[in-house]
Amino acid sequence: MNKNKILISILLILILISLLIFNKKSEVVSNFPLKHEDRINKILSNMSLEEKVGQTCQITLDAILIKKKSGSLIEPHTIDSNKLYEAIHKYKIGSILNVSNHTFTLENWHKKLKKIHECTNLKSNSVPIIYGIDAIHGANYIQNSTLFPQEIALAASWDTSIARSMGLVTAYETRASGIAWNFSPVLDLGRKPIWSRFFETLGEDEYLAKTLGKKIVEGYQGNFPISKYHVAACLKHYVGYSYPQTGRDRTPALIPERTMQELYLPPFKHSIDAGALTVMINSGEVNGIPGHANKYLITDILKNKWGFSGFAVSDWEDFIKLHTELQTDSTIKDAIATAINAGVDMSMVPNNPQYKKYCENLIELVNEGRVSKNRLNDAVKRILRVKAELGILDKKEFDKTVYSDFASNKFKKLAYKSASESITLLKNEDKILPIDNNKSVLLIGPAANSLNVLNGAWTHTWQGIKDIYNNDYPTIKDEIERRFNTVYYFEGSKMLMKNGDELDVVSKDLQKAVKIASKLDYAIVCLGELPSTERSGDIYSLNMPEEQLRIVEELRKTGIKIILVLVEGRPKIINKIVPFCSAILQAYLPGDQGSKAIVDILLGEINPSGKLPYTYPKYDGVIMHYDHKQSELINGNTWSNDFFDPQFEFGFGLSYTNFAYSNLEISSSKISNNEILKINVDIKNTGDVKGKEVVQLYIRDHYATISPSLRKLKRYTKIELEPNQKETIEFVISKSDLKFYGINNEWIVEDGKFSIMVHDLEAEFNFKN
Ligand code: BGC
Repeated sequence: MNKNKILISILLILILISLLIFNKKSEVVSNFPLKHEDRINKILSNMSLEEKVGQTCQITLDAILIKKKSGSLIEPHTIDSNKLYEAIHKYKIGSILNVSNHTFTLENWHKKLKKIHECTNLKSNSVPIIYGIDAIHGANYIQNSTLFPQEIALAASWDTSIARSMGLVTAYETRASGIAWNFSPVLDLGRKPIWSRFFETLGEDEYLAKTLGKKIVEGYQGNFPISKYHVAACLKHYVGYSYPQTGRDRTPALIPERTMQELYLPPFKHSIDAGALTVMINSGEVNGIPGHANKYLITDILKNKWGFSGFAVSDWEDFIKLHTELQTDSTIKDAIATAINAGVDMSMVPNNPQYKKYCENLIELVNEGRVSKNRLNDAVKRILRVKAELGILDKKEFDKTVYSDFASNKFKKLAYKSASESITLLKNEDKILPIDNNKSVLLIGPAANSLNVLNGAWTHTWQGIKDIYNNDYPTIKDEIERRFNTVYYFEGSKMLMKNGDELDVVSKDLQKAVKIASKLDYAIVCLGELPSTERSGDIYSLNMPEEQLRIVEELRKTGIKIILVLVEGRPKIINKIVPFCSAILQAYLPGDQGSKAIVDILLGEINPSGKLPYTYPKYDGVIMHYDHKQSELINGNTWSNDFFDPQFEFGFGLSYTNFAYSNLEISSSKISNNEILKINVDIKNTGDVKGKEVVQLYIRDHYATISPSLRKLKRYTKIELEPNQKETIEFVISKSDLKFYGINNEWIVEDGKFSIMVHDLEAEFNFKN
């Protein structure tokens, strides 16, 4: 070998070594342990094209139920053996979801899932299906299950252990039915209060949503390997779904890249890092790109950058809707190619026969090379991976585990605790609350006597309107009548909603109520909204209907003291009546245990500790968030910086005691790259009852090349203090808490002054890179 050849060989070896090292460095770590790769590779290698395509297909239960000639389903819902066989063995589908307009007993679920298992077992090589359901505030499609408050209320607890307990109980009770996959949590931010699914979110702030969302996921999934008491979480709706320009569901959102990175992506990233197994894609579009066509967000960010190894499922019919609604593809077949190539792994193509067409189209697409074999293999591998992780691949027999804690008192207590820790006291003039149960009460309002209204949508049925499955939990009226000595109940008004118009009507009994009001001590007025979600929940105005406001306006003339209880999934505008109410309690949608929690708070048996997870607007035309900027403050009418004037602020909530904050101390007046900053603050209960307080830490970046928010939530903790008890809380922050998405689309921290804000205290420090 001459000298040149030796040099070239050495060079080549060096290049090879550096390539290997480079590859190692850029290798993305999976977001959960990959323990079953050999097994699933083996299964995959023996699968036909039809079997692979089938794995990516998800149908609704209705598609395999017996129908009458008229097309409606026979009652009780019964699986049609032929349709089932066809779906499992001819089309080889990978998943089934939902139950429409019904809530089954545990036994009924077992019966249905057993039948599906038995059908799968007819052929030895068939891969068992994964069943998915929306158990979003408890196992809401199983009779007698434990129903928690909706997510917006969980967020108001500002308590990660509450978020986790909702996850744990829901997982346990869902798994008790045989179902191992839950389409929850919603990690979309609630920054558009008129949006019909606002109540499904964890509020307006990314830090609050990401910390609580992660705990829900931990509750659902437990540890790896996932046990038979847990389910796979499904983070939804990735990403930007909750911010439609029009406020209407599934309409276009415009979200700049910076806002996407700083607000909308972090809650998903945080739960992906916690090992979330599945993700559901945004039905709408962001910046003109449909969620289901967004390769950058699904493949580049979620899968390649974040290392998500589970699978992404479409939302309802969304492959098809790329053609019919979003109109980015001129045929359904093109739409299927677009979505799969963007990185969606499973298609919720629920109905029969549309699912068959989907399978046929996808087979053709692969044969034509428009969807690569690699892409299909990748999708199937991801689905098999999740099935293996959940133990679904092992069990062709129906699991006979007994879930003896199902609907137990232990679980109900957790649901009650969640409700009582989330309900938020927004006003308490002259400390009118708590009240005594021997005072006479006028109870009135359309939200006072309905369990459905306390629960909201996704309760026993999709829209939560049917009440035949209610489990005899008390309404507010039942509970107040049980606990107070003298109660007069009136409806006041009726809630009605037709095609998005809230057409409430004043009830005849309002005048009767007004007549006796002056003789009574208190009016407890329960206002709210009917359960609804998705497009059925689109409304035209955020204003509380006049008919409901009128109840307070009329009663006010009588001089009775008014306690307003709001039972609502989104903050309805109530500015006209706020001055007339002595106390205001925000109950959100507190679930089956809600009435007990509300009354316990009214009577002082529970000291309220919830804090608003959103900014409660005063005017429907002014939707501002707590993390607004200086330039949003200037008021052209007063020429002062007073434009931010919400009804109630984010993070606000009163207690029956008082807390005094003092001694805010920071460990240094300057930090740089790898240093941490310790923040200490004293909180003292200065009142005479025990109470819980949420200590919130905000950071302000003074001056930045991207105009900064005036404050951002960075830490919080909930503590309980006895009267006179003082506690010192320590928070630790570091450089990563100061970063923002800079002008060159990179995360940066700029040198300069920052403030730490806790309650009414502030301390400053400097950061130097
Ligand atoms: C909703 C999802 C839900 C799915 C299955 C869709 O219409 O947007 O949140 O998980 O239906 O029920």
